[in-house]
Amino acid sequence: MVPTAIVLSPDSYAKVVTERLETSDIENSESLRLENQLSLPVSVRSEDTDIIVVKELVPNPCPICHHPLKFLRELIERFESEETKQIRCPLGHRYSGIMKVYHLNIFQQSEGMESLNKVSECPSCGSKKVQYLGASDMFCLDCDWDSGMVARYRL
Ligand SMILES: [Zn+2]
Ligand SMILES: [Zn+2]
Repeated sequence: MVPTAIVLSPDSYAKVVTERLETSDIENSESLRLENQLSLPVSVRSEDTDIIVVKELVPNPCPICHHPLKFLRELIERFESEETKQIRCPLGHRYSGIMKVYHLNIFQQSEGMESLNKVSECPSCGSKKVQYLGASDMFCLDCDWDSGMVARYRL
């Protein structure tokens, strides 16, 4: 699963901006800078908020050679922009698949779990680019590892 976007309520947005950008004077580019910090598009709306949008391609791994898909972010972008509904595996097989979209609640589980050990390195690929969404919710920006974030519901 790959997180692709974050949706926040106006209140949460203000809170997150204050937390994340506490040292800097807030200007009208705050939204952009928050997106840079989170490495994901951030949008603010008043209904169905405080979610992170997570997408995955199914089937994965490839049904022909059984290799897991690589560069999932790029594959998902391509899958969304093309009409063919074809997935291309690392060895070049093309097969038809579907994209599943999940909405994860960002703040629900992380309340009161501040004492958790911080993970600074991805346990799957060793990347230092671990992105936090709360005290205990995190995912890797370089592979599809996450901290076991549970899908709240599926579209
Ligand atoms: Zn294959
Ligand atoms: Zn990783």
